[in-house]
Amino acid sequence: MQEPWQQIRQRIEAACRRCGRDPQQVRLLAVSKTQPLERMAALWAAGQIHFGENRVQEAREKQSLLAASPHFSLPERAALQWHLIGPLQRNKAKLALELFQMISSVDSLALAETLSALLPVGRTLPILLQVNLGQEAQKHGLAAETLLPALRQIAMLPGLQVQGLMAIPPWTASAEEARPYFRQLAQLARQMAAEKISGVSMAELSMGMSQDYEVAIEEGATWVRVGSALFGPR
Ligand SMILES: *Cc1c(COP(=O)(O)O)cnc(C)c1O
Repeated sequence: MQEPWQQIRQRIEAACRRCGRDPQQVRLLAVSKTQPLERMAALWAAGQIHFGENRVQEAREKQSLLAASPHFSLPERAALQWHLIGPLQRNKAKLALELFQMISSVDSLALAETLSALLPVGRTLPILLQVNLGQEAQKHGLAAETLLPALRQIAMLPGLQVQGLMAIPPWTASAEEARPYFRQLAQLARQMAAEKISGVSMAELSMGMSQDYEVAIEEGATWVRVGSALFGPR
């Protein structure tokens, strides 16, 4: 796993160079869903800090194993960054706040309100708003048309720090076919940034997975979410 990790890091840097971006601006989120903790530990040893999980329950199980794991010292456990990248039911929001440092899949005003209300005083939660670019019924996310009004309201909720947008575009046979979706998300982020809503940043764009992260980088991704290319097939 360390070898694919190195390769992916190199490909991220190469993609940045091709389009004149600073590689420091693109971070790799290792999508560890369905992967056992030992495999995460191998990546951690290589230098990976940010891990993405799509299910609250699975993250909870891994974090309790982590507490007893010989692979991680206490400071190491504290340094690991857990990102939720899957749909969050409101009845699991409280637990999610205990498990995750960042929630990249906030897909409704109602969820944002719930998270804000449950946040302990003094804690700030970085979030990304998930956009349903293909308007697919089976996918989560705010429709592009409803993004601005939702954003205006979410911006007023205490404790939430909107950092940008996230999307899982419709499945495409090739990376190149996903490019228009990535471009659309970047465009949306620029439109939202132009509104200059107080407290809202549109600096982060989470887009691109194993198949198409290089194209996503060319279109402005700051987070790429890579699972199978890193860990092997699920
Ligand atoms: C599983 C998953 C990924 C990673 O997918 P791969 O194709 O394995 O890289 C990225 N983002 C989300 C939201 C996912 O659920």
